[in-house]
Amino acid sequence: MTAACLMSTYQPLALSFSKGLGTRLWDQAGREYLDAVAGVAVTNVGHSHPRIVSAISEQAGLLLHTSNLYSIDWQQKLAQKLVQLSGMDRAFFNNSGAEANETALKLARLYGWHKGIEQPLVVVMENAFHGRTLGTLSASDGPAVRLGFNELPGDFIKVPFGDLAALETALKAHGPRIVAVLMEPIQGESGVQMAPPGYLKAVRELCNRRAWLMMLDEIQTGIGRTGQWFAFQHEGVVPDIMTLAKGLGNGVPIGACLARGKAADLFTPGSHGSTFGGNPLACRVGCTVLEIIEEQGLLENARLQGERLLARLRVELADNPSVLAIRGQGLMIGIELAHPIRDLTLIAARDHGLLINVTRGKTIRLLPPLTIDEREVEMVVRGVGRAVKAA
Ligand SMILES: *Cc1c(COP(=O)(O)O)cnc(C)c1O
Repeated sequence: MTAACLMSTYQPLALSFSKGLGTRLWDQAGREYLDAVAGVAVTNVGHSHPRIVSAISEQAGLLLHTSNLYSIDWQQKLAQKLVQLSGMDRAFFNNSGAEANETALKLARLYGWHKGIEQPLVVVMENAFHGRTLGTLSASDGPAVRLGFNELPGDFIKVPFGDLAALETALKAHGPRIVAVLMEPIQGESGVQMAPPGYLKAVRELCNRRAWLMMLDEIQTGIGRTGQWFAFQHEGVVPDIMTLAKGLGNGVPIGACLARGKAADLFTPGSHGSTFGGNPLACRVGCTVLEIIEEQGLLENARLQGERLLARLRVELADNPSVLAIRGQGLMIGIELAHPIRDLTLIAARDHGLLINVTRGKTIRLLPPLTIDEREVEMVVRGVGRAVKAA
């Protein structure tokens, strides 16, 4: 088989899987791998979870799609559950993360419009990643993803992530035009970058003071990844808008934009929509994912195993001169290297049966399923240790 008929947006490894179960994947030759990527923070409850399998097959035999011209029970159920878990008021369902962020950005526009702000601006962060549509690309940072796509919509101002003074400066320069701040609680794509303690709270206070919408992109950090349902719950704040995708469907495409207060009432019939968004299949799977996380105690497991993984990596890699920093929260962990290591993901897979991700060239990113156990944590530590040493 050849990939010649595919546009070359990715450079995949010459590795293809035919089966998955829990934390494991099997390639076409039947070799087993421990999956510490989880399809980029997607398969949070593990591959082929029996409850997900039966939810999908049962729903496929009943009803896949009716459109939003009719009410959809599973959509209402999922919205209710997410609202209850997050403290938000209402949800809108999409098919992906980028679309969920587009929804958030449209809400910010409407919010400004209602306030009579003619050219509304949204504050975004340096090194942010919010998706690949023109709007979300514009809100994202990094030459690699933006190159060749100018002129992007320009309704954003960018400030350094975690820098409160820079936010105050932006306020002074553009205050009256600003309607919202959009940020990831932990920046995933740019290498698991964490804001200093208290930053989220300070952003919340600033947003309160200026009546800006605080919009959190929890697409990667949400659905238990950091050891809470949503990363903002570690910080004792609640945003006005939150976006979800990745782990919500465990591999079935779904995104969601949740909003609270004024922001939850901005859309009116006709102002936004989606053909597939919120379909019975995706929403039933979403409900099942949330049930599994609750019933299997996966938030607690993510906290416990995440702390263990972080601590063990710090010991294992302590004397390694190519490791600059190890950071993370829950089961979202980054290992920043002094320089890129060629073929690192290939070496880890081929020589150690371990699937890892490397982001922005030199940060190993670990995003294992939330079901990972102590023995598997050791396997990850050993595999990463050996792969980095060998390189
Ligand atoms: C993956 C990701 C997105 C984009 O999601 P897609 O489903 O690929 O559109 C947006 N924001 C963050 C933080 C992400 O990790």
